[in-house]
Amino acid sequence: MTVKAERKSAAGWRLENSYARLPEVLHARAAPVPVARPEMVLFNEKLAVELGLDPGALAGESGAEIFAGNRLPDGAKPIAQAYAGHQFGHFTNLGDGRAVLLGEQITPQGARLDIQLKGSGRTPYSRRGDGRAALGPMLREYIVSEAMHALGIPTTRSLAVVTTGQEIAREEMLPGAVLTRVAASHIRVGTFEYANATGDGAALEALTRYTLQRHYAELCGADNAALALFEGVLERQARLIAQWVCVGFVHGVMNTDNMALSGETIDYGPCAFIDIHDPATVFSSIDRNGRYAYGNQPDIGHWNLARLAEALLPLIDKDKDKAVARAEGALGKFPARFRAHYTAGLRAKLGLLTAEDGDFALAQEFLDGMKTAEADFTLSFAALTGAVESGRLSGPLFSGGAPLRTWHQRWRARLEREQKVPSEVVAAMRRANPVLIPRNYRVEEALAAAVAGDLSVLHRLLDALRAPFAETPANQPYRAAPPPTGQLYRTFCGT
Ligand code: AMP
Ligand code: MG
Repeated sequence: MTVKAERKSAAGWRLENSYARLPEVLHARAAPVPVARPEMVLFNEKLAVELGLDPGALAGESGAEIFAGNRLPDGAKPIAQAYAGHQFGHFTNLGDGRAVLLGEQITPQGARLDIQLKGSGRTPYSRRGDGRAALGPMLREYIVSEAMHALGIPTTRSLAVVTTGQEIAREEMLPGAVLTRVAASHIRVGTFEYANATGDGAALEALTRYTLQRHYAELCGADNAALALFEGVLERQARLIAQWVCVGFVHGVMNTDNMALSGETIDYGPCAFIDIHDPATVFSSIDRNGRYAYGNQPDIGHWNLARLAEALLPLIDKDKDKAVARAEGALGKFPARFRAHYTAGLRAKLGLLTAEDGDFALAQEFLDGMKTAEADFTLSFAALTGAVESGRLSGPLFSGGAPLRTWHQRWRARLEREQKVPSEVVAAMRRANPVLIPRNYRVEEALAAAVAGDLSVLHRLLDALRAPFAETPANQPYRAAPPPTGQLYRTFCGT
């Protein structure tokens, strides 16, 4: 091992800055702007250890200074990344307006993970924004991203939230905060749109090579790097969105700048989980036409990938027509790839370990029945696991005049054709059907208490969300469907 690779600070920082070496149009120097009184609110000790950091050295005041941006960790070279994006269908130039990338931490396992401060002050890409973030939305990202991780869904992670001791002006004055986000990278579909829009072919090519190497090393030998990258991203997004749909997750703002090439879920804004199963579910207050509704997510994923393909066209083939034909050929595979991942996910949720042609239709009938009965998505699937366990299927969804009273006989017949012992089926169903999701009312309750200075509610929620597949007495209060309020749940972008 070289001396350089051994260099590691006392707190365990081992930062590299490979993105900062990409062509200059792709980023700008941008140091975090110091804040008045950094105070640690949440620190993810387990994640710190995974990163090779010393929680003891970072949990206290010196950690707060670093995660607020008042002091740079060893090896940091802060930059803001340039990107563009289609926001609700419209192209805009963006860039990190309130975030800086400190560098890439090389973990003890050899992974390279971005360490980004979000809410760390103005950058060259801030436009009219103040570069800051409010405490509520940063805690929300922490809760939901960590919940997604526990659910086994690829996602950026949250290492810390610190308050700044400064208020920020939104519709009202709010406490300011900085989130430390950990990501496979922050390269977005919008990063490629930006690189292509600059007309700087060398930058686009360098970005393509870099992204392929960093996230799809296995495809590096391909003769058409841009097409290989595109196909790799398509496959991961098809899988990711299928995973979202299988747990009832609504991202809420699937703009192309919020879609990561690594295949991780990124940018938790107005996201939320469905309670009642309805494909038309929209939570975001700004999504007036339901563009990013629960059931629209695969179509939007496909649409976003078309924007990525467009950005890559100059590299796919010098001949424009040939490039378009090849890109369209690849893009056209998305619906089938999504359907394959989604069907596999649904099969697992129904306890089916083998594949039969009618499985998707069987699952679809279950989903339709749930919609008609306005049944809770998570609890209904959990009830199926219980049914295999107890041999009985009860509850309003399955008895009396319920829409699924005949469905369950066909499901049982299908399960019997598998010839598996119930214990095996139950174990597999448990892994596919979380009993616990971050219920919107629980998240709101925890945020309200936290912003008012009481973190205990938030800590209890985070503890419960760490183990979402097992029913325990402790997580019982978090599993219940929300009490009816008669009101539609709404989320706000909360920048
Ligand atoms: P988001 O809604 O967080 O995905 O952000 C969309 C774009 O707006 C990104 O380019 C952000 O950097 C930028 N942005 C959001 N909030 C602010 C802010 N308070 N100050 C500066 N830029 C911001
Ligand atoms: Mg964003």
